[in-house]
Amino acid sequence: MTVSYWQRAEEFLGRRFEVAVVGGGIAGVSAALELSRRGVDVCLLERHGLASGASGRNAGFLMRGVAESYAAAAERYGREAAAELWRWTEANLAALRGEGIGTLPGYAERGSTLVAFDDGEAGDFERSAVMLRADGFEFELIDAPPRDPDSLWSSSLARLALRNPHDAVCSPVEMVEMLASGLGTSVCVQTHTEVTAIEDRGTDGVALETSRGWVRADRVMVCANAWTSALVPRLRGMIEPKRGQMIQVAAAGAALHDAYYANRGNEYFRQVAPGKFIFGGWRRAEPAGEAGLTDGVRAEVQDRLFELARRILGDGASRGGGWGGAMAFTANHLPIVGPMNAHGRVWVCGGFTGHGMSMGFITARAAVREMLGDPRELPGAVMSPADLA
Ligand SMILES: Cc1cc2nc3c(=O)[nH]c(=O)nc-3n(C[C@H](O)[C@H](O)[C@H](O)COP(=O)(O)OP(=O)(O)OC[C@H]3O[C@@H](n4cnc5c(N)ncnc54)[C@H](O)[C@@H]3O)c2cc1C
Repeated sequence: MTVSYWQRAEEFLGRRFEVAVVGGGIAGVSAALELSRRGVDVCLLERHGLASGASGRNAGFLMRGVAESYAAAAERYGREAAAELWRWTEANLAALRGEGIGTLPGYAERGSTLVAFDDGEAGDFERSAVMLRADGFEFELIDAPPRDPDSLWSSSLARLALRNPHDAVCSPVEMVEMLASGLGTSVCVQTHTEVTAIEDRGTDGVALETSRGWVRADRVMVCANAWTSALVPRLRGMIEPKRGQMIQVAAAGAALHDAYYANRGNEYFRQVAPGKFIFGGWRRAEPAGEAGLTDGVRAEVQDRLFELARRILGDGASRGGGWGGAMAFTANHLPIVGPMNAHGRVWVCGGFTGHGMSMGFITARAAVREMLGDPRELPGAVMSPADLA
């Protein structure tokens, strides 16, 4: 819905904040939390409800590393940078546990396992194993069905698996809500408030045009992920929205013990309750149709996901509802974090690709700390807008 000149109040909220955060997903809520803990006067502006974007629509994998194997990541980022990313995601989960995520009903300690369906990827896992061992990371290389019956291994699809034993899964909505509950009353949280433009007014700070009137702040942290470039046009082409789709499947008697990534991270699936499973991925079935910001579904992708589910869970599997979410891809599959210019009034923290749950909490926290003058603590492979200029 658009808002007319007359409906738009002159000024909304009636005072100037030190920092305005745009976006109420994992990144925005984590940023607002850190700001409030540092005693900063902050408002959080979210277009819909908290966790209404990708943060409420994902698979809830809290995984060490990224979707591709360690060997592939070392090739992409360099060996040291890959190790740094692996440690960063370990630190993210440790920090979330410190926040109390372990008490949430949807949380479970569950290994995440990369599964190779072909010899090429299996070879990649063998190379990864050598490198992980040398770099001091704990892992398991699995080439035979586990003792407990597991539908993936019964399906004979898996050739080899590389397992992170200390990972976890969660309900991402619960996780964002838990972090948001820490904001207390000191943070001015405004949902159903869309930011339509950001003006850098020099020494006068920033002015955010919103669907409910202007909001003024000294600085803004844009945590809008897939929607970043609508507010920060200079990042157009650098943070690209792409849809991810998932499907719910029921299969009595089937079991998946781990959170699985297959086909080089292109597909992912796990059990969410007895007899209930979620499957995601298969974007390559319809790459052109999956560009953009919608959260709808397309039959081409949903059919492939269900086909995969049946191969793993058996012919008795029945199809439930599907959903989509807007993800934000960058050239190196890592977020872009930092100030948009030397004045440092407009900051971004977005472009998490498929890793926002696995690294979003401490990445947004680090973004805020840097904004407040602390040294940059992000992994070296995480780019700043200045690196991309
Ligand atoms: C299907 C799917 C499966 C995934 N699985 C996993 C997984 O298992 N593990 C993992 O680590 N990651 C996963 N991801 C990725 C992960 O969900 C994202 O990286 C993460 O949620 C990004 O968080 P965010 O806060 O940056 O973005 P979002 O959660 O998208 O938050 C951005 C928020 O900004 C708001 N917003 C946008 N524009 C405006 C505006 N103009 N004004 C006000 N508000 C605005 C949006 O409404 C939204 O709430 C998955 C993603 C999808 C879609």
